[in-house]
Amino acid sequence: MNNTTNIFTPATLFAEVIIPLALPRTYTWAVPQHLAQAIVPGSRVEVGLKQNKKYAGIVRSLHNNPPAYETKEILNVLDSEPVIFPAQLKLWQWISHYYACTEGEVMQAALPAHLKLSSETVISYNEDHGQELTLLSNDEYIVAEALDIRKELKLQEVQKLLDATHVYPVIKKLIEKKICYVWEALTEKYKEKKETYILLNPAYHSETALEKLVNEWSRAPKQLSLLLAFLHFQKTDGEVTQKKLLEKAASTPALLKGLLEKKVLIAEKRSVDRLHSLPKDVKIEFALSQQQEHALQQVKDALQQKDVCLLHGVTGSGKTLVYIRLIEEQIKLGKQVLFLLPEIALTTQIIRRLQLHFGGYVAVYHSKFSPNERVEVWNKVKSGEVKIVIGARSSLFLPFHDLSLIIVDEEHDSSFKQHEPAPRYHARDAAIYYASVIGAKTVLGSATPSVETYYNAIQGKYGLVTLTDRYGGIELPGIELIDLRKIPMKDKSKVIISNQLKEAIEDNIKRGKQVILFQNRRGYSPYQICAVCGWIPHCKHCDVSLTLHKSSGKLHCHYCGTTYPNVKTCAACGSQNFTQKNFGTEKIEEVLDELLPDAKIARMDIDSVRGKHSHDALINLFEQQRIDVLVGTQMVVKGLDFDHVGLVGILDADGILGYADFRVNERAFQLMEQVSGRAGRKGEKGKVLVQVTNTKHPLLAIIQRHDYRQFFDIEIEYRRQYFYPPFSRIIKVQCKHKDKQTAEQAAQFLANKLLGAYDHFLNGPAEPPISRVRNQFIYELMLKLSRQLTLLQQCKQQLQNFITDLHHEKVFSRVQVIIDVDSI
Ligand code: ADP
Ligand code: ZN
Ligand code: ZN
Repeated sequence: MNNTTNIFTPATLFAEVIIPLALPRTYTWAVPQHLAQAIVPGSRVEVGLKQNKKYAGIVRSLHNNPPAYETKEILNVLDSEPVIFPAQLKLWQWISHYYACTEGEVMQAALPAHLKLSSETVISYNEDHGQELTLLSNDEYIVAEALDIRKELKLQEVQKLLDATHVYPVIKKLIEKKICYVWEALTEKYKEKKETYILLNPAYHSETALEKLVNEWSRAPKQLSLLLAFLHFQKTDGEVTQKKLLEKAASTPALLKGLLEKKVLIAEKRSVDRLHSLPKDVKIEFALSQQQEHALQQVKDALQQKDVCLLHGVTGSGKTLVYIRLIEEQIKLGKQVLFLLPEIALTTQIIRRLQLHFGGYVAVYHSKFSPNERVEVWNKVKSGEVKIVIGARSSLFLPFHDLSLIIVDEEHDSSFKQHEPAPRYHARDAAIYYASVIGAKTVLGSATPSVETYYNAIQGKYGLVTLTDRYGGIELPGIELIDLRKIPMKDKSKVIISNQLKEAIEDNIKRGKQVILFQNRRGYSPYQICAVCGWIPHCKHCDVSLTLHKSSGKLHCHYCGTTYPNVKTCAACGSQNFTQKNFGTEKIEEVLDELLPDAKIARMDIDSVRGKHSHDALINLFEQQRIDVLVGTQMVVKGLDFDHVGLVGILDADGILGYADFRVNERAFQLMEQVSGRAGRKGEKGKVLVQVTNTKHPLLAIIQRHDYRQFFDIEIEYRRQYFYPPFSRIIKVQCKHKDKQTAEQAAQFLANKLLGAYDHFLNGPAEPPISRVRNQFIYELMLKLSRQLTLLQQCKQQLQNFITDLHHEKVFSRVQVIIDVDSI
């Protein structure tokens, strides 16, 4: 090849590049010859989209077919190796097809911020844009206004201004409107973290030399005790950092400096892994019970035949131990394992349990980690150094190089489905797909499997293994109902904690047991209601009832975060007679403080565990029995394993049974069974007290018997009859607009288009229970499709065409349309 003629040679190699923007498709760039060797699918490349707009995109594929339009050249390759493997690209593609979103949106969710160079991007204000800013949408306006003042913003700063979901579409709009432009300094920001380690001078490495040093120590006894502390930590921890030594030995930098000057100790600055560096080995000392051993064997057998196996084990049956044995097998084969949990909140205990057995092989990956930490895990998973990843749904996107097993614990949990932003994917379902692509196996575990999963299992699509007993032969807790109708309504605090419940709590504390109280909602009192006319204060923007937060003394909107002063006078009738119709965890905590002045009470909900560690701290305190009564929302329900809980109280079962959704019974069964699963896990049988008005609700009797199968048999018939999943697939379509009528008409427009082909499947347009969020009115359509994949594909394709048609209508051009496949 003749180098001098390079620039005249027409490109013959082209790359489809995914850019982290909600662009409807990938675009094609020409690969310049000098980069041809370096670019493979999965490579990050720098490309210009239009004018000066540059992005770090990912090469999806390479080919020799020039597109119809004139191509630009790829500007640069950003990494020496591709950042993701072909299997990941396949997963991205599947998610984008199945959940009807763009691959750019999947890329957004999949890559840690540091690999998406767009987060480094600086956008600059175009002084000459000549647009009327007040005509912009809310989000666009917020950014444009900030730009007007500051002239330049990093996308990171934009992210702080807007809900993270909106940044890219908004920036895209603003750029299209020429209000801002991107100027790019594509620099890597990944910085290694350094830490000072303290080491013993090699002169004292021999025992005799060390003994001599210590024995002949004459002055400075405080220095000696610091040295001894150092030697102790070195023995227990292996490596000692300066920070830890000073903390744990309660010493001063001056003392340490003395030892360093004497050259007894040496300080060394090293780049460290942000993960704990535990030894990499496998230690399994427990023995499985006979039932567990049998279940383990059954799971293995099932996975010989099938790709997926459901482990349905009652709460406390030891599913985790079965997982550990399954993991052990894979680690010994040198393979990798992904342990998916519905929420980060759950990782605390499982990390400890897995680290105990697998030490430094384990890593954690979740959204609360800094971008630096995430990139580190990313790289170690890619190199194979990390063998076991514990993580929430985004860890599915890690570049595993030899993944053989995915465990989806608490598979029924709806947190596995991402609601906002796109990709609106279900991590369990995506995991099953991904495992099938790479030839791995999936184990789904739950005490209360989702109806869909259990149906797949009894249909023979998945293996089904059951653990019917709690470990150690402990019986499942007894569930008793407390009839709230027997409590006079004026006795408000007793509706929150009935006498019967109070006495049971006292009795438990007396016996040295702990108590968990569950309430569905957070806040002081989820809403205030006028006792005379029934008026309830609502958020002006979101049309949801407001919550009174005691700490701020204000009413809060749960959706947009707006706060309002507390109301004393009814806006409708002028009465000043307000009652707190419902109650939140804060209110319960307050009533408890009054009822049980001597008990140690704590609260666990989103408000009380905002930081990264306070959740862990609470769990630790509770484990150490330094808390008697833990009051909490859904957070206390999920999978936690405490030894001394004798009593669980469900404070308002009516609220759980009254949820407006076809999954209400499934949710209620899961919630109540899971929350009672926290009681009596060790030692004696536990007890559950359920406060309820509607005591005759049929589900309650089933829950009292812990009879999952009966629940399922009844539920599946109802689903069949009303054509709900698993018999159908649900696609929800939301139209959002500032103007209520426009939103409704847009939904009607789509409905009319859909009516021809899908009329017997179509519901709506309807206003959802929460019909206004962030000043946008929402109208919804619901499609219930029969389960042929071709129908689903065809329907999504048509929907997308209809949405394009909709946006071509001038009045609807700004209607935001959201497609949610398998919405829950
Ligand atoms: P699940 O996940 O099914 O709710 P866990 O795995 O958390 O149950 O087990 C419940 C408790 O019983 C845990 O504290 C666990 O350590 C203990 N346990 C279960 N099986 C065994 C076993 N074979 N040996 C020792 N302890 C066990
Ligand atoms: Zn009133
Ligand atoms: Zn609001």
